[in-house]
Amino acid sequence: MEGFVVNIRLIVLLGILANPKITWANDVQAACKKRGLPVVMLTYRDRDANLRAIEAASLGSSDLAKFLKSAYSPGPLPKSEEKIQELADLGNKKFLPESEIKTLSLEYSSHEKKISDPRGYKKALLDLANKFVTNEHNKIAWFQTLQDPLISSTVIRPADEKDLGEIYGATMRTSPSSDSHYKLEVVFSNNASEPIPYLIPLLIHELSHAQEYKEFVRTANDVKARSEFVIVDEARAFDVQMRTYVSLAQKNPEIFCDWLYATWSYGDLLIPLSWAMASMEEEMRAGRFIYDYAKRGVLKDQPYLLKPDKTALRGDLQKKITDLKLRYVK
Ligand SMILES: [Zn+2]
Repeated sequence: MEGFVVNIRLIVLLGILANPKITWANDVQAACKKRGLPVVMLTYRDRDANLRAIEAASLGSSDLAKFLKSAYSPGPLPKSEEKIQELADLGNKKFLPESEIKTLSLEYSSHEKKISDPRGYKKALLDLANKFVTNEHNKIAWFQTLQDPLISSTVIRPADEKDLGEIYGATMRTSPSSDSHYKLEVVFSNNASEPIPYLIPLLIHELSHAQEYKEFVRTANDVKARSEFVIVDEARAFDVQMRTYVSLAQKNPEIFCDWLYATWSYGDLLIPLSWAMASMEEEMRAGRFIYDYAKRGVLKDQPYLLKPDKTALRGDLQKKITDLKLRYVK
């Protein structure tokens, strides 16, 4: 009997070794497993490699899988983000169940004048985040009631005309106001039909940065000190973002796993949100996510964040991140 158990274990182990990509071990995949559509792992900003990976994957025979397959063949997938988003909206209307999140998001993305929150979009987003995000991640109430001698006001708002084209996703800003006070703002994109399922974890990411407002204010005029602080704070913020996403996907997998959208990060393709999140989770766990972010993201012009040979993040910064003992970012 014992020999039999050992053999079964050996067979399972060999199976795992033979198929290192096919595993449900990561949290996004585990949360989305029941949806029936396998997760395809993608490479950051590499459209061609991702197209090949998607075309080679066996996606199964669900309606969503059939829709994705038909979008990818015959002929090339359109390259314009707008066209891809149109396809995504079509799929989301067809396959996702009616829900508060879906209705609000689709209503918003079909609205032609996406500025200054005409339909109470900000309120909808905050209400949804309050409702769906667990207390551990809920930094919204804290931000909205923040009182501090340094701070004149806190604002969460959609991007307006002045921000258009500048904000992809969401951002947190500290800007000087009168009397050496600072205004704290979390601004999210409303120029590209960003769906709400995508925005809730991003909003929590920015609110996580906002909690470190004292450090952002202290380094306001020192690019190097600011960048060295920010790269470590990014690790913390991305970890919170991923924890938020996973808890949303566990609670509401039909929306947060299957939601289709046009991704920029993975090369302007039509993909379910779960693919982007699972790929990000894998990059985080492999320890290369923050290095890639420092190398290619908004901090790419700050070479002192990397080792002199540019092969890794600077040792002291990496140590600070490791010492945070985060769940996802290593
Ligand atoms: Zn950030």
